[in-house]
Amino acid sequence: MFDINQLSDDLNKLSMENKCGQVTMSQKQKPLLCLNNYFYRISTKNNGNVFWRCTVTGCNVRCTTFGDTIGQKYAVNINDSFIHCHAPDTTKFANLEKRRFIKEKASVSDEPARKIISQNTGRGRGVKYSTIHRKPKYLIELWSIHKRLIDDIPRTTNYCESWHNAFGNMLKKHPNVYCLIDSLRHENKNKMFEL
Ligand SMILES: [Zn+2]
Repeated sequence: MFDINQLSDDLNKLSMENKCGQVTMSQKQKPLLCLNNYFYRISTKNNGNVFWRCTVTGCNVRCTTFGDTIGQKYAVNINDSFIHCHAPDTTKFANLEKRRFIKEKASVSDEPARKIISQNTGRGRGVKYSTIHRKPKYLIELWSIHKRLIDDIPRTTNYCESWHNAFGNMLKKHPNVYCLIDSLRHENKNKMFEL
C-alpha cells in the first residue's frame, strides 16, 4: 500500500532544509502549494513565474515558484519576514495527496471504484491488507533454539551451572592455580571413566 505518511514526513524534511514545496490538488481540483504544512493558492502568473498567497483569509504571506504542475516539487522563494497568523495544518497534505492518488489511479485503471478506494483508505468491504516484512532488530538465528531442540541438546545453560556447583564443592576454598589444575585433571579423569 502507498505510504502517504512517509511521503508527508519526507516533504516536511525537504521543506525545512531548502524551502522546497510540493504542488498538490485542492478539493476544487486547483493547484495548491504546500510548504511547511502551510497552503498557498495561485494569486497571479507571469512568464512562468507563479505567485502564491496563503489560503487562510486575512493571512498575507506570499511566495513565488517557477511552475505550478500538480505533483511536482519546486524551490519556493519566500520572504522570511512574513509570519502566518495561524497554525500549520499537519494532516491536510496527507489527505489531499491520498485523494489525488485515488483520482489518478481511477483515471488509468479499470478496477471498480469501490476497490480502488478501499485499497487506498484501508477501510470497508474488500480491503486488501498488505503486510510488510522488515528485518527484525534481533535476528532470529540469534535467539531461536529450534535447531538445538532438533539436535537434542540442552536449551539452557542449567547443566553448566550444576556442574559448576558440584565442582566448586569439590574444591577447597580459594584454591591456588596448581591445586585447581589438579582438580580439573581429576574431574577430567572421572568423566572419562563415566563415558
Ligand atoms: Zn497563512
